[in-house]
Amino acid sequence: MLLGAIADDLTGATDLALMLSREGMRTIQTIGVPKTDLDLSDVDAVVVALKSRTNPAAEAVAMSLEALSFLQTAGAKQFLFKYCSTFDSSPAGNIGPVTEALMQALGTDLTIVCPAFPANGRTIYKGHLFVGDQLLSDSPMRNHPLTPMTDSSLVRLMADQSQLKVGLVTRETVGQGASAVAQAFEAARGRGEQALVVDALTDADLRVIGEAAAGLTLITGGSGIALGLPENFRRAGRLRPTGDTLAFSAPAGRAMILAGSCSEATRGQIRTATEAGVPTLKLDPIAIAEGHFRVEEALSWALAQSARAPLIYSSAEPEEVKAAQAALGRDSAGSLIEQFLAETALGLKAAGVRRLIVAGGETSGAVVGALAPDALFIGPEIDPGVPWTLTLGQTEPMALALKSGNFGAPDFFLKAWDILP
Ligand code: ADP
Repeated sequence: MLLGAIADDLTGATDLALMLSREGMRTIQTIGVPKTDLDLSDVDAVVVALKSRTNPAAEAVAMSLEALSFLQTAGAKQFLFKYCSTFDSSPAGNIGPVTEALMQALGTDLTIVCPAFPANGRTIYKGHLFVGDQLLSDSPMRNHPLTPMTDSSLVRLMADQSQLKVGLVTRETVGQGASAVAQAFEAARGRGEQALVVDALTDADLRVIGEAAAGLTLITGGSGIALGLPENFRRAGRLRPTGDTLAFSAPAGRAMILAGSCSEATRGQIRTATEAGVPTLKLDPIAIAEGHFRVEEALSWALAQSARAPLIYSSAEPEEVKAAQAALGRDSAGSLIEQFLAETALGLKAAGVRRLIVAGGETSGAVVGALAPDALFIGPEIDPGVPWTLTLGQTEPMALALKSGNFGAPDFFLKAWDILP
């Protein structure tokens, strides 16, 4: 075991596991800290998927430290704390506190902060996070139901969320290559800086930063920061030249889509699917809260459809989300829908659904929590960051595609089925 990662949500963990396996590391993704003993003898990297993104900082810290201790026992040499490429965090913020706690537990005085993911339009320049052509704070992320982001300065966000002394390594330095970046790390260490935001505009930048980070015990960022890490182990003679691909075959059975993400991308995917004739059922949080619509009704609707993969969604425009939150409370509205979709997933599985797409990070966390596999195998990639996966440790395995809200092309809900082996 070389690399141990802690991801603050499930779809992010999948995205990271996919990145590592694409770069030739045999990677397992666990759902939380595994309760049973997993055979890690053939494994190069383990990604522990937590559901800590929106938890209060103290809880997120405790969960992350437990994951760290599992990864240390498993023999990891380097550690990665993975959060969202849009730095999603609750207003009180737990990325800072978790980073600080992990640094302390590992006895390290310097880490980096780099959520860039250029393939999905997330770039960092002068310490500011961009989503496509917009600053994070001008992007649709300002309307996220749970983690609205209204500041784009990662330096400021990190300093606000922690006691750490935060510094910046700019694109100019990254452009000069890995040794310049490594020198910048040492210079910052000399100034007493502890968390360095690092600019990155391209995957090539991320590989440079990854190479420069070979000597860091702890790295923090999005999945993109993992791009350059496998090569470090290979250079050091610890990782085989090419990875073995894992055999993947999806179980036969009915297919279904559940969406709890209210992101623009997911809403667009729902529109595209609807226009293509996919049968849809839209959930109303208030009707659910008042007991006027129950899981059994969603299940009987789903099972009555003859189409290839019907869609149940709660996704709504920002005004509708605000109205539901005003009526029910922000967190209660979120957990009500998450629980509804999780119970629906269990019911669907019991009724023979074996292929399931779930849209939304928190939503996927709730669904997988209910289905409770020990771990996920990474299969073929549907769109950047979203693979099909196979549940492990279950008598009736399922093919799951867990899509972070923002990810995927408009026709995601249509084309995903076509690449399933
Ligand atoms: P994303 O990956 O887009 O961030 P998540 O599933 O992580 O999606 O977060 C979306 C949150 O919004 C979930 O907690 C979900 O339950 C909640 N939600 C979904 N639909 C509604 C709605 N109509 N009104 C209020 N909250 C909603």
